[in-house]
Amino acid sequence: MMFDGGLMDISKYVKLLAMAGKNSRHLFCTNCGTETLSLSAPGICSWCELPVTFSYDDLSADDVSFPSAFRSLLQAGNCAGAVELSENAVAKSPTPERFYINALAYISSSNKEVSLITYNLKGFMEENILHRDASAKMFSSAKLKLNKAISICEAEISNGSASISTIYLLFLLYVKSGKVRPAEKSLEKLKEMKGGALYYYARMVFYSMIGDFGGVLSSSSESAGSENIPLATIHYIILALFKNGHYSNAKILSGEFLKYVDSDSSKYLQTEIGPI
Ligand SMILES: [Zn+2]
Repeated sequence: MMFDGGLMDISKYVKLLAMAGKNSRHLFCTNCGTETLSLSAPGICSWCELPVTFSYDDLSADDVSFPSAFRSLLQAGNCAGAVELSENAVAKSPTPERFYINALAYISSSNKEVSLITYNLKGFMEENILHRDASAKMFSSAKLKLNKAISICEAEISNGSASISTIYLLFLLYVKSGKVRPAEKSLEKLKEMKGGALYYYARMVFYSMIGDFGGVLSSSSESAGSENIPLATIHYIILALFKNGHYSNAKILSGEFLKYVDSDSSKYLQTEIGPI
């Protein structure tokens, strides 16, 4: 039977958000510099979707220097600067996480170029062609970086040294690359490894990726009652309610979400999976 999100009880998410507003802390993403409100550690970064564990004050100046600078550039809308900075960070330390952040910077840049396309131009629209070309170029750079990160993670798996967080990262890399079958395989692996909140989150991302919004809603109801839900999950629930035509529940929940979750820090999710 198809899960009906119209009958879904959203009050538990409203309560969860209110609780987060009162009791939670902000965790700092050591990958992209975003601060994410979280009820439990680890949480999920609302921008890059990697796990976040520490508060800013718990980290050393060394840990925060690249991510803080990266985040400031993005916040200022300087995507080209964020691309350059993350290129340098990869050159210094070629980890799969750094390649992933570098790829996301390219994707943001690509999206920005698309947003500059206008259909109100007179004449031959040369300007639009330039934006379209720049966007395609940025996107293919992003794919290259994603592939580099994928091969590092896959090498770790074949060594037998892959942790849950590597499998989770590999899952995200496949999702961003649009590779459905490999993403599904990583998801199965996360389940096998008892990936907990990461598995739960990844499952929603996967259903959303394949356009199965009923699946997003039914998997959210399966974990009802748990407080160990990454708040970023709620973004996918709102999207699924909306896509399934449950506009009033979607509207109520997104109003509550934006009270507690900084819309700027989740901008990437919004452009990736749709506005809330
Ligand atoms: Zn992040």
